[in-house]
Amino acid sequence: MFDDKYQFTCVDRFLKYVKIDTQSDEESTSFPSTEKQKDLSKALAEELKQMGLKDAHMDEWGYVMATLPANTDKNVDPIAFLAHVDTSPAVSGKDINPVINKNYQGGDIPLKNGGWVIKVSDNPELKDMIGYDIITTDGTTLLGADNKAGVAEIMDAVNYWLSHPEVKHGTIKICFTPDEEVGRGTEKIDLKKLGAKYGYTVDGSAKGELESETFSADMMVIKFIGKNIHPGYAKGQMINSIKIGSTFIDSLPKDKLSPETTDKREGYVHCTAFNGNEELTTLKFIIRSFVTADLKEYEKMLKELAEKTVEKYPGSKVEIEVIEQYRNMKEMLDKHPMVEANALEALKRLKIEPIMHPIRGGTDGSRLSFMGLPTPNIFAGEHSFHSQLEWVAVQDMHDAVKYIIEIAKVWEEKS
Ligand SMILES: [Zn+2]
Repeated sequence: MFDDKYQFTCVDRFLKYVKIDTQSDEESTSFPSTEKQKDLSKALAEELKQMGLKDAHMDEWGYVMATLPANTDKNVDPIAFLAHVDTSPAVSGKDINPVINKNYQGGDIPLKNGGWVIKVSDNPELKDMIGYDIITTDGTTLLGADNKAGVAEIMDAVNYWLSHPEVKHGTIKICFTPDEEVGRGTEKIDLKKLGAKYGYTVDGSAKGELESETFSADMMVIKFIGKNIHPGYAKGQMINSIKIGSTFIDSLPKDKLSPETTDKREGYVHCTAFNGNEELTTLKFIIRSFVTADLKEYEKMLKELAEKTVEKYPGSKVEIEVIEQYRNMKEMLDKHPMVEANALEALKRLKIEPIMHPIRGGTDGSRLSFMGLPTPNIFAGEHSFHSQLEWVAVQDMHDAVKYIIEIAKVWEEKS
């Protein structure tokens, strides 16, 4: 049983962590993309060390790792809990002033500045939160609950384990990563050093969320090569690649296979960039499906449409490159069913209704799963990511801490 007298520390920690600006940067080519992420990572490593985790440290890339040694005689697989320290480049994460709305009584929540309102119609979860304490922004920044709520919850779980040695667990690995929001969170991670067999990212939304299925993803770069000539002498000679690109875009299916025409389990192809001049027009596509084999089908379709397009512009050429991005983590998790089963069992013991739906996107866990660390995503209580409307409920954060503890307990008992 969870110690009901336990004084949670996650909210105090959270309010402290969000004060440190850790916004990542999509344009940057360095790693981590912004040095300031290390300000928080360094502080976390120091905190873990002071709590007694002797090997706690931050490496040169900004990854924080630490070990909570096992306190059981059983042979339990080491499991890792992971969260990312960076916040989204979409909205400023500097000078965050969180507002705690104590004892929420229902209805929309207007923010102090900017005319922002957290609406119940957009956040149906609020209906279950009467009496809860809801943390919001003051309307000028994002909140950073994504993923500092997860960071704080993991830190609190460590605090709980250390103050409750009677709670048996195997080896627990803690890992805080940079640059998740710019899709590079696993780029420099040393999994060997981490030494975990399975992982859980604590970066989900509503209480009960357990995400074990993501898109499979490729990127496709299509280059149309035309021919440039001074426009004054271009008759019969110029081939304007911008027009080739436009013709190609116009040939795409209009009522299917795009983000704006699909949902649930449907995949899509999506043009994210179109840059060109007369000579060269480059289009970037992201290709998405829950079924990895579909990607090849979609890519074939685009290739054929592109080839048909250049046929209409004699003398032009097309070059196509496919770049693998990530794969549906379910393919890996299905090979290690206990990772999901134990997480479900822990929800059941806490009497929390599981919420499981496929993510129409990727997580660090998708990449980690294919790098050899099967890693589903569990709830952290974060809502309305990447915006001024971000919020998190104190009581959800407490439940997330309990959930982390319970997962480790289940692993110990089932070993
Ligand atoms: Zn996140």
